[in-house]
This record gives sequence, C-alpha cells and structure tokens, in this order.
Amino acid sequence: MYACSPSWSDDWISEGDLSRILDQLSGSIAPAPGGSSRIGVNYGLHFTGGEPFLNYRLLLRAVELAEDYDIPSVFVETNCFWCVSRERAEEMLLELRRAGLDGVLVSVNPFLVEYTPFERLVLVAELAERIFDGGLIIYQREFYDQFRRIGLRGTMSFEEYLARLGVNGLRWAELLPMGRACYKLRELFRRYPAKVFFDEDCRGSLLRSWHAHIDNYGNLITGYCAGLSLGDARRLDELVEGGLDLDERPILGMLILEDLGSLYRFAVKEYNYVERSDGYISKCDLCLDIRRHIVEQAGADEYPELAPREFYKHLEEERGG
Ligand code: SF4
Repeated sequence: MYACSPSWSDDWISEGDLSRILDQLSGSIAPAPGGSSRIGVNYGLHFTGGEPFLNYRLLLRAVELAEDYDIPSVFVETNCFWCVSRERAEEMLLELRRAGLDGVLVSVNPFLVEYTPFERLVLVAELAERIFDGGLIIYQREFYDQFRRIGLRGTMSFEEYLARLGVNGLRWAELLPMGRACYKLRELFRRYPAKVFFDEDCRGSLLRSWHAHIDNYGNLITGYCAGLSLGDARRLDELVEGGLDLDERPILGMLILEDLGSLYRFAVKEYNYVERSDGYISKCDLCLDIRRHIVEQAGADEYPELAPREFYKHLEEERGG
C-alpha cells in the first residue's frame, strides 16, 4: 500500500517532530475497548513503517514520548526481521514494555515471508503474547494459520505461495487493491474500464475519524490513501481548527467534493492522461495511476497533497525493494 522499499531515502522522523505530533494527538486517541493498557487494531496509537525496528533507538524513544503524553493503547507493528536471537528479542520487548508499550502487532502475509523466515514471526508472536500479557495482534491471522498448516520453514516466494495454495489462498484474507498491488499484482484481479469508477467519491475514506496514519515527513494520511496528504500533522491543531484548504489542494477537493470522473477529466484535459488499455483493478488503481501521471508532469511544488513525492517513484519496484 505504501510502496515500501529499502531504496527510499532514510529520512527518519526527528524527535522534535515526533514530540510535537504526539502532543497534539494526545487528547484525541480512543483507548481499546478493554482499557488503555490493552490494544486493538483500530484503537490507540501504533508505531509502524516501513519497519519501526529498523531504528530501534528511535522506536524506544517514541514509546517513551507516548507514555509521557499519556497516550492509551500503544502498540508497534513489525515484520519481525530483527528477531534473529531469542535472548535479544526478549530483551528488546521487555525494554519496550517498561517504556510503556502495550503490545505488538505481528504482520503476516505472503509478501513478508518472501524475505523474513516464518520462524521469526512465530517467535515474536510467542514472546509478545507472554511479555505483554496477551497484548498481541497477528495480522492477518488467516495467513499465519495457513503457514503453520503447511509447516512453512524459512522464506517462500510469492510464486511458490501461489503454486502451493493457489489464488484461493488469498481469498481468506484482505489484499487491498491499492498501492503497489495495482502495478505488480494486477494479473490477480479482474479489470474494468475507467468509466466504471467515475461515480465514486472518496469522502468517506478521506474524512473518516478512525485509523489515520502520519508519516515521517508529517503528512496526515487517512483512508490508507498513500501519496495523498491532508496536511502537515506537525501543525495538526491549526489543521483541525482552520479546516482543509481545498483550493490549495485541488486534487483532494475533487476526490472529496466531486468524484473520480472529475479527476479523470481534469487529468485528460490538463495533463493528457491516457486511459490504460488493460483496465483498472479498482477505483484506487484509477486514482493512483492518474495521480502518478500528474506527479510526472507537474512541478515539484504544485499539488502539495500529492505527498510524499517519493512514494510515486517506488510503486513499480520489485516486491521488497
Ligand atoms: S480512490 Fe483514491 S482517494 Fe479514494 S480511497 Fe482510493 S486511493 Fe483513496
């Protein structure tokens, strides 16, 4: 979804920005239904990436800051690449727990086990379950169970996954047709002409009040719509107070106030966008392909909502980088 890759610039969020953002968020975060020390996938605050354990010291500091601001239900999402030694992994999780972390979300899917041996995921799940007293989410559990069922050891390429479990294996779980999937996995989906999606608007996704992300540059990203920034979360209070300036962010304006047909006609008229002859797998495929085309044509300081710009460069990379 976020076109993650080792070839992105290593622009870590600064401690100052992190602190500023957490401070402004702190009064508005809903705890998990079980209480502020329990976790839930759409509750509380999660640190994610990329992969947050790539910079363990920064992750630890982020957890300490969240604790200082009394933020409830704090967890970290991880692909578990770092879990090469049981002892060290246990030490790190205990240190995070002492700093205020409430739990861990272990990411499990066929794309991840292409690179990370499954045993590492199993080990983190086992340690987190114990250390965080049940504060463990396995996402997605269906894949975890599939891999256990087939006795997976080590890594497995996506091609092997398809050969062993078939495309039907993917039906058990969510594979959102957005981001890199639109380019690298399009053969798995049925495709439609652009006009099928013209009446769709994205108001619900872009203005929803649950599960938003803020990236390392401060971009506020709602609705999983990577590459579309609602504004600078370092100035979140001003953004909430003053509202979205849709004149300054016209592409967001079209997606919120009009529909995808408006964005399509705008791109054809202003940027000679040409409809893909092989169709689109989803409305997000159409939206993303248009946005990517505009980014290639427009100046770097036009359309501040198309951020971070680097996202658009990594869409077609091989899975994993
Ligand atoms: S069509 Fe675009 S704005 Fe709408 S949900 Fe998909 S990515 Fe987000």
